[in-house]
Amino acid sequence: MIKRPCVALLDDDLAMCDFMSEVLQAAGYGTVMAHDGRELATLLVAQPELLILDIAMAHMDGIEVIRQLAAARFSGRLVIVSGHSAAMLQSAKLLAELQGVRVAGILTKPFRAENLLAMLQAPELQATKPRLLHEISLDDLARGIENNELVLHYQPQVALTDGAWVGVEALVRWQHPQHGLLYPDAFIALAETSGLALPLTRKVINLALEECMRNASSLGFTGTLSINLPPVAMTDLTFPEAVLAAVDRVGCKAEKIMFEVTETSVPTDPTRAMDILTRLRLKGFALSIDDFGTGHSSLEHLQNFPFSELKIDLVFVRAAETDAASRMIVESSIALGRQLGLKVLAEGVENEASWHWLRNAGCELAQGYFIARPMPIENMAAWQLEWETRRLSLT
Ligand code: C2E
Ligand code: CA
Ligand code: CA
Repeated sequence: MIKRPCVALLDDDLAMCDFMSEVLQAAGYGTVMAHDGRELATLLVAQPELLILDIAMAHMDGIEVIRQLAAARFSGRLVIVSGHSAAMLQSAKLLAELQGVRVAGILTKPFRAENLLAMLQAPELQATKPRLLHEISLDDLARGIENNELVLHYQPQVALTDGAWVGVEALVRWQHPQHGLLYPDAFIALAETSGLALPLTRKVINLALEECMRNASSLGFTGTLSINLPPVAMTDLTFPEAVLAAVDRVGCKAEKIMFEVTETSVPTDPTRAMDILTRLRLKGFALSIDDFGTGHSSLEHLQNFPFSELKIDLVFVRAAETDAASRMIVESSIALGRQLGLKVLAEGVENEASWHWLRNAGCELAQGYFIARPMPIENMAAWQLEWETRRLSLT
């Protein structure tokens, strides 16, 4: 099945909307449009992956629309369009990002079809491309989890000061008997909305513990193992005891395990979430606040919950090279983390320039394609060798 991602167009220039819609539809996207900011809610009903917004409209201006997008926790990406000056567009972008709305780019009017299409090639928009999606049924996922079809790839985390290897994040994949290797975007959302997230998490924890314990001594690895937790783990009061039993079983120390949570993991019942997170800390587990800066993870919870690490979202890290607002967000996240006594990790470090910039900005840890892509545990020894030589030239 080809999934046609939906792009919403909000522009009071009717001809402009028609033009964009034609170009997008020809490129395989579905479109919905409105010409007045007051119709934003109707556009959002279509759950667009992308919203192209003209910030200068007659009835409700784009800045107001951005505020409403933030309030509605719009999870898609925003493209800001206007004939205004570049500075004006940058301010609008900054305002959006500060409120947790992810901006994929800016288009200055007038622009041509090529400009619009080039914008859709941006790396942040790859996930919104028309793509082949496999129909995954709940039964299939339940069966896959039960039959141990989940596999883990590990992505190293290193210290920016000297390149020392200090941790790995376990990232789940599903080795599907028909569809091949599936990535989390193909099945995590289904797991999280269907009651399968806890069984999946249990499998991931046990598999990660077992693989890491089996390989730690040959790799000489003494760092931390980071594991992502779904929101539902923050509602299960037996979770802390259950994971402690799991680490005891394999002879691992709780101090070596870092659970990554986002603000969405602290949903309806913050008291219960606080109970669970505090007991995890008491048992010695470390806690990381994931995707920091996105609005999924905000300041409010940082003060109230016993976190050990702040993980700056890759969107900001990757954009920092070219975008002043993202640079500012990264810098203030580093400062905040340090003030609160947290380890600060930047994820999405994709090149050497980003490495040096983060190091100079005082960030402690890094994770990203520049260091290594996520890989099966069998490949870590080869990476370690390669990294040992490369890190010398970086530090
Ligand atoms: P996340 O926790 O934010 O994980 C980071 C994602 O960014 C991973 O994608 C990783 O492969 C990717 N990444 C790492 N470095 C770079 C880089 O330099 N550039 C770019 N462009 N990307 C980079 P992945 O593995 O597809 O995972 C996506 C999401 O799926 C994760 O986001 C996490 O939210 C979820 N997920 C993964 N494993 C699990 C799991 O075991 N349990 C749960 N509940 N969620 C998981
Ligand atoms: Ca994570
Ligand atoms: Ca993240």
